[in-house]
Amino acid sequence: MFVKHKNYNLPDKDGFFGEFGGMFVPENFKPVLRKLDEEFEKAIKDENFEKEVYELLKEYSGRPTPLYFAKRLTEHYGKGKIYLKREDLNHTGAHKINNVIGQCLLAKRMGAHKVIAETGAGQHGVATATVAALLGLECEIFMGETDMFRQRSNVDRMRLLGAKVNSVSQGTKTLADACDAAIEYWLNHADEVFYVLGSAVGPHPYPKMVHAFQSVISVESRQQILEKEGRLPDYVVACIGGGSNAIGAFAAYLEDENVKLIGAEAAGEGADTDHTAASLTKGKKTYLHGMYQYVLVDEEGNPRESYSISAGLDYPGCGPEHCYLHDTGRAEYFPITDTEAIEAFERLSKFEGIIPAIESSHALAYLEYLMPKTNKDDIIIVNVSGRGDKDTERILEILTQRKLWIKSKKNT
Ligand SMILES: *Cc1c(COP(=O)(O)O)cnc(C)c1O
Repeated sequence: MFVKHKNYNLPDKDGFFGEFGGMFVPENFKPVLRKLDEEFEKAIKDENFEKEVYELLKEYSGRPTPLYFAKRLTEHYGKGKIYLKREDLNHTGAHKINNVIGQCLLAKRMGAHKVIAETGAGQHGVATATVAALLGLECEIFMGETDMFRQRSNVDRMRLLGAKVNSVSQGTKTLADACDAAIEYWLNHADEVFYVLGSAVGPHPYPKMVHAFQSVISVESRQQILEKEGRLPDYVVACIGGGSNAIGAFAAYLEDENVKLIGAEAAGEGADTDHTAASLTKGKKTYLHGMYQYVLVDEEGNPRESYSISAGLDYPGCGPEHCYLHDTGRAEYFPITDTEAIEAFERLSKFEGIIPAIESSHALAYLEYLMPKTNKDDIIIVNVSGRGDKDTERILEILTQRKLWIKSKKNT
């Protein structure tokens, strides 16, 4: 179930995807990461470990997730064939648990008793608290104060699952600050805790580990589409925060040159405004969170605050493998605004009876650009990274306001 590449063998032994990635941490911390890399490499080659991971993915999280033909959405566009990879049907409601099961089993294998994690929307925190409970591991989560307010129900879930949630009140009090706090705690307690990182970011070997653990998405979808259609898809579309669901959705197709890989990043109020999280479209190459990557920066070149309606995509950087795929042209990345995502959220709910996460809605919104130019027989797979229950209150509020606003315009 972990993807096996033929000729694509990135990152290199130092964690570089081309010029991106690496291990930019204090010198005395490098042995910890090298040890982790060594243990991961041993585990991933061990059939028993692979079996153990898949057993939980299957029996506990409910894999394989369906590859569902979205008939009414397809009819709406009038051509092509749109399939949805239903990661929203995983236990805890998103793709995050794929990676968490892998990392927590690795933690146990390495003898750790406690795991820590950062979280933005709270999805990764919930997934980590869940699997920690399942495996009897102590769990501490770092979350920005602003996000704790925006995603209160996820904070409640984590606490009910027995995790300690630390409120981070530095900086903008969001995901990037939660990452800083988790990394700092880890630097001081590396011999006691295992850091479960939630996206395809951070210093080597994390992006590589997350690639492996999330690759189950495309290993499955590749097999499913071959069964259903007898051929590979023309497009695979996924949203990009740090890039874990997207790399999982792309991994098994990286060497299939005819499969176009597309990432939808969060433009917020527009990629050309200050209120954006479109780091591949607008970022500059620099160092953040232990790696070299594209980051949104201010005039002095310092990382600046990102913005997106979606807490899960509200990150000023982007995983190194996506930076590499972007620069080599193997994958293409497009900015999607808050408004476009909200419209896609409403569209999928009404056409298919599936309420997607506002993160996933960014990928669905890309169909508005893609479908007018597809051929009539093109096959498109959209990765629905998570379910939208957490977003319903906010989206309904925005939609109601907008309808009132349109009505008042008509009346004047
Ligand atoms: C966290 C999250 C994302 C963004 O993270 P990636 O690492 O880019 O996948 C996207 N969708 C959902 C539902 C999430 O919870």
